[in-house]
Amino acid sequence: MYDAYDVVVIGGGAAGLSAGLVLGRSRRRVLVVDAGEPRNALAAHMQGYLSRDGMPPAEFLAEGRRELERYGVEMVPGRVAEVAADGDGEFDVRLADGGAVRARRIVMATGLVDEIPPVPGVAERWGRDVLHCPYCHGWEVRDQAFGVLAPEPFNSHQALLLTQWSKDVTLFLHTVRELPDAEWERLAAAGVSVVEGEVAGLETEDDRLTGVRLADGRVFPRSVLFISAKPVPRDNLLTALGARTRETPAGPYPAVDEAGRTTVPGVWAVGNAAGPTEQVINAASAGYRAGLLINAELVMADIETEVGRRRAGVFSPRVEAEVARTVAKGGRGHGFGG
Ligand SMILES: Cc1cc2nc3c(=O)[nH]c(=O)nc-3n(C[C@H](O)[C@H](O)[C@H](O)COP(=O)(O)OP(=O)(O)OC[C@H]3O[C@@H](n4cnc5c(N)ncnc54)[C@H](O)[C@@H]3O)c2cc1C
Repeated sequence: MYDAYDVVVIGGGAAGLSAGLVLGRSRRRVLVVDAGEPRNALAAHMQGYLSRDGMPPAEFLAEGRRELERYGVEMVPGRVAEVAADGDGEFDVRLADGGAVRARRIVMATGLVDEIPPVPGVAERWGRDVLHCPYCHGWEVRDQAFGVLAPEPFNSHQALLLTQWSKDVTLFLHTVRELPDAEWERLAAAGVSVVEGEVAGLETEDDRLTGVRLADGRVFPRSVLFISAKPVPRDNLLTALGARTRETPAGPYPAVDEAGRTTVPGVWAVGNAAGPTEQVINAASAGYRAGLLINAELVMADIETEVGRRRAGVFSPRVEAEVARTVAKGGRGHGFGG
């Protein structure tokens, strides 16, 4: 017999822990399974989370786990390998280590994977001086010599945006052969230098980025390189359940309503598992919202079940005890069986 939970949360990043917190405080039996690979694991600091700005990501999550413990939420390290609907509105959840549990509701908080452009040296420096998000890191590297790698024409827009954080921005066109005239005009107006030619690698000194090297051997001194990693949702469990997707500028993502419900009844998706633009604070907010709505849904589902039983004249032991007490006092109870 498997352990049965009200909710199994898959993924213990900001989104999953936040869902777990509100569900634990709602007295739900909750299991959070976490494979321990949060998206910002390589970053030294987490920025922009009001009251936690600059906190190391691992410390933020450890603090979150301590908060969930207070409410009896169970958290296990591990990877969920499969979620299967049992046909009665509940789910069998199988872990990669062979364990299995049952759940009434599932929260997919599995995050996404950033696919780094295949330029030598770039993946190794990811999250340190190869960056993607000015809102996460821009302040910390302000006024430095920025490079922007453009495997796609839209990266020129990233270069324009970055002029808010440094006036020394060089766009490396890399594999992009052409830009629209209007974009050249904007780049010139913003003071962005543009370098044509393929980037072949990065120059470093004392484990710090010092330059960007082109295939023709030219080296451009730069201390920070911004790239666009392709954000790919970890949606294999949802896909296997038959969840529908929606198109986003970053490619297909699970289709969810504004509360995080997927198209599979009982299965929710929150944080980066549901959208590529969610920052930590948005992911936490989405998890929280889903958690409280799941609790409300379960409360109402249980009440509807009880109503059905009463209509059918089948009373649960709790109701029968209530009837007995009411009859003993000479009352009429709550309108059932008088
Ligand atoms: C380098 C970098 C720096 C960043 N800096 C910032 C910043 O300063 N401020 C900011 O707001 N945002 C920042 N972000 C974005 C931030 O990382 C995300 O917004 C945030 O991690 C999303 O939280 P999440 O809970 O949705 O997903 P995640 O934090 O990625 O957590 C998902 C969790 O689910 C687990 N998981 C996945 N599949 C399974 C499975 N099958 N079974 C069990 N567990 C599973 C993963 O291992 C992971 O632990 C940064 C991102 C990067 C790449």
